[in-house]
Amino acid sequence: MTFEELNLTKPLLQALADLNYETPTTIQHKVFSVMMSGKDVCGIAQTGTGKTFAYLLPTLRQLEFSKDRLPQLLILVPTRELVVQVVEEVRKLSAYLTLQVVGAYGGGNIKVQMAELKNGADVVVATPGRLFDLALNGSLKTKGIKKLVIDEVDEMLNLGFRTQLKNILDLLPQKRQNLLFSATLTPEVEALMQTYFNNPVRIEA
Ligand code: AMP
Repeated sequence: MTFEELNLTKPLLQALADLNYETPTTIQHKVFSVMMSGKDVCGIAQTGTGKTFAYLLPTLRQLEFSKDRLPQLLILVPTRELVVQVVEEVRKLSAYLTLQVVGAYGGGNIKVQMAELKNGADVVVATPGRLFDLALNGSLKTKGIKKLVIDEVDEMLNLGFRTQLKNILDLLPQKRQNLLFSATLTPEVEALMQTYFNNPVRIEA
């Protein structure tokens, strides 16, 4: 199976070709088809399996570009390092798309992050605490969010982001597609999905 055989668009295929990636990893292949069907997904995968592209390919594939530039895709990650890394991966994959991505994390300058959001963002990558602050002060508009990715949710809960995560989930539009990645499926992660997700399809790397 090659990337050409997935239902990707030309700009994404071109970006993958520039990166010299020819073959999707197992998790990328599996997640792509389920996400394209519109279902919620729970992916069990460690770093190194290609999980970042596994959630970026189908979500970027399904973005709809409009003039209002309200965020459509929200990616929550546990750490500042991961925000930087994922923003970098979004930039690589969107080399041929007119897409704005904003990264926001605690400890970073909130005024700069607010200005970036004001300028328009299609994709937002953030840690939960800072994201919630940006939503509360009105900088992050949540009403256009159609896809939510929660990456390394087990780590996020270990770091104590429980309340912020739930607060954010309560702010998002009900009608959205959810995708969650975790290295392990703990009872707490299961309970979170039970409350906020819609019959997620379980996929293992
Ligand atoms: P991740 O599991 O998302 O941390 O990805 C691990 C590494 O694999 C990253 O450096 C990716 O850029 C790279 N990678 C992701 N997908 C592919 C692929 N299909 N072929 C080759 N390398 C990939």
